[in-house]
Amino acid sequence: MESRPKTQASNENIPQPIRNDGAGATDFGPRDVMRDLENPDMLVPPVTDAGLLPNLKFSFSDTHMQLNHGGWSREITVRELPIATTLAGVNMRLTPGGVRELHWHHQSEWAYMLYGRARITSIDPEGRNFIADIGPGDLWYFPAGLPHSIQGLEEGCEFLLVFDDGKFSDLSTLSISDWFAHTPKDVLSANFGVPESAFANVPSKQLYIFQAEVPGSLESQKVQSPYGTIPQSFKHQLLAQEPIKTPGGSVRIVDSSNFPISKTIAAALVEIEPGAMRELHWHPNNDEWQYYLTGQGRMTVFAGNGAARTFDYRAGDVGYVPFAFGHYIQNTGNQTLWFLEMFKSDRFVDVSLNQWMALNTRELIRDNLHVGPELLDALRKEKWPVVKYTNVL
Ligand code: MN
Ligand code: MN
Repeated sequence: MESRPKTQASNENIPQPIRNDGAGATDFGPRDVMRDLENPDMLVPPVTDAGLLPNLKFSFSDTHMQLNHGGWSREITVRELPIATTLAGVNMRLTPGGVRELHWHHQSEWAYMLYGRARITSIDPEGRNFIADIGPGDLWYFPAGLPHSIQGLEEGCEFLLVFDDGKFSDLSTLSISDWFAHTPKDVLSANFGVPESAFANVPSKQLYIFQAEVPGSLESQKVQSPYGTIPQSFKHQLLAQEPIKTPGGSVRIVDSSNFPISKTIAAALVEIEPGAMRELHWHPNNDEWQYYLTGQGRMTVFAGNGAARTFDYRAGDVGYVPFAFGHYIQNTGNQTLWFLEMFKSDRFVDVSLNQWMALNTRELIRDNLHVGPELLDALRKEKWPVVKYTNVL
């Protein structure tokens, strides 16, 4: 038996914290080489990184998995990522027939269907109801306080939920089974006008997620409210929306201007091709919460006062950009990078560095940055959210 833990031998395939100017030194371990390989800009930060920025990344792979019969969930809240105070995210899977039980909460709920299909139900205070099926690339939005449910259809489903409060937890909502379990049976009897025996089998605690049969067709489950259906749909087909196409990718924006019920959450679904980047920009309204859907990329966040920090992201990661901080997202892989950028706001807004400069006087830009016609002539008055950068090589 060795009397000491072994150190890592130097190996060409193991990245070392050494910049190409020679700064740094080898790391003999202990170390997590898998993590270092996934975070090249953390191990060897660009020389332009400086200052003390907090952590702006958390992976769903590092969260607790809540496993139930009928599905699972995991969440990234201020507990996991303390900077993310505006929004919290939940990744949830429901089996065919699996149900996220009837519940409600203080926060509004925005969701994006990643895979499969689900049936959602809700009602508003006027007694108008909403029952709809949601497919891949579709969204839903439930205003704060309104009750709802989600059930997996034939193929089951997986989705991302986003809540307009970083302190939200999906494990502490108000659930119908929990309320029944904590209401005296004689009160239930009086409330519904049926004998107490009708409640003999109600669950003794919150179910959260449970397994049920796959529901029948939407038509077969129709419930007619005497007050009609809700006036503004809780559903929006984001992927079916015509994207803004630019060389290098595309963007689909959804906020209260095209999805009127979504008053507190705005989003953009961004596609960045290999060799392209989401241009340098910032948002003049609120913090940005990101969810990476496919591929890999890197982002540098500029905080002013000489501070900037670079992070690497891949599918399943959450990123965060505090209000007004400058940033870009570059596709660092060989497959298309898709991600969601989300804001606690009724509108999606951003300011493009390129457009801002193009719409300024040439003299001011020249004298401020000490740049010549090469850059000044290339500035674009139109906003291109995603740009190709390989054409400069
Ligand atoms: Mn909910
Ligand atoms: Mn952004």
